[in-house]
Amino acid sequence: MQCDLIIKGKYILPMDDKLTVIKNGFVAVLENKIVGLGAGDEIKNYQAKETIDVGNSIVMPGLVNTHTHAAMAYFRGLADDLPLDIWLNQHIWPAEAKYVNAEFVKQAGELACLEMIKAGVTTYNDMYFFGKSMAEPAIRAGLRALIGITILDFKNPTEGIGEAVSLAKQYKNNEFVKIILAPHAIYTCSKENLLKIKAVADAENMRLHIHVSETKKEVDDCLSAHGKTPVEYLDELEMLSDRLMAAHSVWLNDNDLEIYKNRGVKVAHCPISNMKLASGAAPLKRMLEMGITVGLGTDGAASNNTLDLFSDMRACALMHKVNNFDPTAISAKEVVKMATIGGAKVLGMDKEIGSLQAGKKADIITINLNKPHLAPVYNPYSHLVYCVSHDDVENVIVNGKVIMKNREVKTLDEEKILKRTSGFTV
Ligand SMILES: [Zn+2]
Repeated sequence: MQCDLIIKGKYILPMDDKLTVIKNGFVAVLENKIVGLGAGDEIKNYQAKETIDVGNSIVMPGLVNTHTHAAMAYFRGLADDLPLDIWLNQHIWPAEAKYVNAEFVKQAGELACLEMIKAGVTTYNDMYFFGKSMAEPAIRAGLRALIGITILDFKNPTEGIGEAVSLAKQYKNNEFVKIILAPHAIYTCSKENLLKIKAVADAENMRLHIHVSETKKEVDDCLSAHGKTPVEYLDELEMLSDRLMAAHSVWLNDNDLEIYKNRGVKVAHCPISNMKLASGAAPLKRMLEMGITVGLGTDGAASNNTLDLFSDMRACALMHKVNNFDPTAISAKEVVKMATIGGAKVLGMDKEIGSLQAGKKADIITINLNKPHLAPVYNPYSHLVYCVSHDDVENVIVNGKVIMKNREVKTLDEEKILKRTSGFTV
């Protein structure tokens, strides 16, 4: 059959249920979709307009970053080595009040998109302010994004909800962005506001993105105020469903885990952010054993301090091994699943993205293995978690379009963005 593009490489990782590795294989793309993949002579069944032979490389689905605040890229390194409440109250929120406006979100968002493309992320789940300014960089960059309008009691919540509903209509048919509701947390949104958000989410069939049980303090405060854990409190408000994406979810007890499982709640696990803010280690092993859907997130660049999901993959594996005193607690394969198809499931997009499969959208990255730190190769999954770094990503394809070729980003002006960023100071 005729197709537009063929990507040939030494290790094709489709991220299917069997976690197959196709050696010396190819992926065929027609328009914005994958039409076939295979090995050897099967390639003769496809006549492509363009063939990219990436040789000694891994070809895999684009990574899915399930929790970020893209525009916080401009606050990278602004305040480190602090507990979450002091970091937020004394540093981040004052800086946001002073500097964040529509233009800031657009410019910092472009920096974040540039960084994510160069690190192999093709879809991200964002939570911030000025929805239109959040959406524009993703569309320009050619990345997929869930744009979560953050709602906080102290930031005119009614306006935030209205903005989300009106933008959702505006971007309804957009290929790249989808607008969702993002109540910040139970400690920044009142019961009344949470209930309003839930009613709108139900009526408009919108996803919800919220920080849940990130720190012990959040859980202790909730127990004192409501006699319930944050998960029990959200469940009482009937907020929990398979449309809710719970970032962090570090401090969960057995009952909380059962509630997550029963309601189909999706988890965005952010190991580096949780370690940096010393929030704790989420019960990942239990969640995976129980069949709870978990993806990986970087969180914002102010609490990581990069948007490099490869770092979080490695941190995730190491964190849960040491936390369980068990090197078998989580395998490299499980971590790569979380960063791809797992993330797609968290975002409710697994029918479209997250694996290389005929009929799915062509969101594909290639990783160049011709590097000293990547030789030799016995197991590509092991390399992805324990050896590969963001700048080993060589090509990025989203929706069938090559947006980075040989590390040159085609959709954004890297030089201009870096020059503009170096001119921004707080
Ligand atoms: Zn966050």
